[in-house]
Amino acid sequence: MTTLCLTLDYELFGSGKGNVYKHIIEPTNHLLAICAKYEMKLTIFFEVVEYWKIKETFENGETMGYDKNPAEAMAKQIRIAHQLGHDVQLHIHPQWVDAQYKNGEWILNMKYWRLPEVPENATEDISIGLGELIRKGKEELESILHPVNPNYTCNVLRAGGYNIDPSEQLLKVLKENGFVADSSVYYGGKVDSGLSQYDYTHVKKEIPYWFVNDSLLAASNTKTDFLELPVFAKNITRIRKYDLVRVRSALKNKANSIEKLKNSSAKKSKWESIKHLMAKEAVTWDFCLFSKSKMNEFFESAIKISKASEVSFHPFVLVGHPKDFYFTHAIDYLSEKANSNRIKFCTISEVIARIKKTNSQK
Ligand SMILES: [Zn+2]
Repeated sequence: MTTLCLTLDYELFGSGKGNVYKHIIEPTNHLLAICAKYEMKLTIFFEVVEYWKIKETFENGETMGYDKNPAEAMAKQIRIAHQLGHDVQLHIHPQWVDAQYKNGEWILNMKYWRLPEVPENATEDISIGLGELIRKGKEELESILHPVNPNYTCNVLRAGGYNIDPSEQLLKVLKENGFVADSSVYYGGKVDSGLSQYDYTHVKKEIPYWFVNDSLLAASNTKTDFLELPVFAKNITRIRKYDLVRVRSALKNKANSIEKLKNSSAKKSKWESIKHLMAKEAVTWDFCLFSKSKMNEFFESAIKISKASEVSFHPFVLVGHPKDFYFTHAIDYLSEKANSNRIKFCTISEVIARIKKTNSQK
């Protein structure tokens, strides 16, 4: 049996574009309906900063074109999801911190695209420091969910755009606020785009999780109270990354997305373009964007890795975004596998509890 943890980054586009109902609420409802049918569990990584901004702006009388309060719809949706057994944890994109809605669009602070670079305290450039940002984010999720579950705790983070490098200061702040795990790394990830910057190429995809001391990127020699749970990814050639499902989804989102198209829009010669397409790239295991055949390829890799694994409990973390969820190929594949009983779905909190249990028995 293979354990999968389906995580969903619940947010608009990194550019600030998109519609809360079309790109978050409706596709998430669709996913929740599918999950109910096949007993799958999600972990919703709720982007709290855009929630604050949308809420504040709507309540100040700027409706942003919505006829109902979109922030209320988001809070209501995660309450319902949590009552159905799904987990909700913290996702932060700091570019939203001082966002302003002007002339029909969001102006974000792209200087703070990377969470680890948010200064300890507020400055002229950013109105909230890192510690306060994490503490308030946690408090917000707990205040949204306590009415439906008084025992709910927010204690896992996913940083925006997988930017967790360097992680020392952020890890310190997370520990101070009672966090127990992070899930921002992905196997083999390496980006230096001007916006995102990280290098996870040393991380081996055969290792399901590790305990950390001072850095999220270095495994501790001993068991500690803090875990890194990386997203599963595989190195594949770019030309194979862009199958029909991904291309069709990308075309639908073309007007909204900046970060994904920015790199590929640079002018390249024909030969450079071919070389670029044939080069390998770490691709995260995506349950919203993948075709069935790619799901199958990643699933078979996971089975192989878990069979050869050195640990008795070997979970795999997948990722998805409601804004990418136009086609059901990937989730259909999982539902077929679930029917044949080869998969167990766990939330991230369940995975953490299981890891703690496994490690305390030894
Ligand atoms: Zn995100």
